[in-house]
Amino acid sequence: MYFYCEKCKKQYPLNTHAIRCSCGGLFRLHKDPEDVVPQDVSIGHMVTPLVPMNAGGIEVLLKLENLQPTGSYKDRGAATLVSVAKSLGITKIALDSAGYAGASVAAYAAAAGMDCRVYVPEGVPDGARQQLQTYGAEVEVVTGTRMDACAEVKKHLGTSWYYASPAYNPLFAEGVKSLAHELYEQLGGKVPEYVFVPAGNGSLVIGLYLGFMEIGRLPRIVAVQTDGCAPLYRAFMEKRGIPVEEDDVGKVFDDPNFSIERPKRLQEMLFAIESSGGDVITVTQQELEEARADLGRRGVYAELTAAAGLAAAKKFFPHGKPDNYKVVVPVTGSGFKR
Ligand SMILES: [Zn+2]
Repeated sequence: MYFYCEKCKKQYPLNTHAIRCSCGGLFRLHKDPEDVVPQDVSIGHMVTPLVPMNAGGIEVLLKLENLQPTGSYKDRGAATLVSVAKSLGITKIALDSAGYAGASVAAYAAAAGMDCRVYVPEGVPDGARQQLQTYGAEVEVVTGTRMDACAEVKKHLGTSWYYASPAYNPLFAEGVKSLAHELYEQLGGKVPEYVFVPAGNGSLVIGLYLGFMEIGRLPRIVAVQTDGCAPLYRAFMEKRGIPVEEDDVGKVFDDPNFSIERPKRLQEMLFAIESSGGDVITVTQQELEEARADLGRRGVYAELTAAAGLAAAKKFFPHGKPDNYKVVVPVTGSGFKR
């Protein structure tokens, strides 16, 4: 296994302290068929439940990723990233995060006996900070936004701290692939027709795409953004020659509650979504809140962003869906911290 540059194809070892190629391209992971990805670091192997729900006449299957050890699907990415890092002899990892990614990496780093440092933007909820500290992570609070935290961590990595960023390090999406395999097993060897996921930084879209590619069939992957922060939606529509109003997609991408900035892997996300015959849609704040309330009435306590998939599924099928369609909505994060 090795990293290679998505632009110039230059190869880098997995333990590189470079965060991207010298040409500026992002890393992707190369795996040979005989390569086994280490998965030794565990906080208990978790198969999350897949439960049916009727939301506004639409039958969906909720994948309860909020029940992961630290409260989000990001544990899948962190488990793999940290396991591989440990197998490479890495002992110090760092990342920037405003929430769940930091918690996941910090928890798995703790389980691996590794040092972890998380750069968080000021204004991160106390609960999130406390969770990081409880896992033994050093928390560096950065003045400014999520993007400032990202700039700050890069200044301090040097050659001693390994960058465990879900956006930059492809080992993260490699771990998220297990979500696709698990769904396939839970559906009795079937691939769902649709999966609705928050776009975020792309690790879920890309991880699902890579995982289902291994299975050999893709569901339609529909990525969701809020209408105030929708760079992926804009790119998706513009590629089709459909003009979008600035007001519909937002100008400022630094809201710590949502997907914060233009995703680093926007082109990779577009490729995954298009290859799957999927779509990108936006939902309003009100639609998000309604979807979170729907989840609550089903007994599921989700963070607001984690309701995006359900909000989108309701919007996507306004008159109901074909009975034979299996529509999966991962509940990506627990509401407990926010
Ligand atoms: Zn390159």
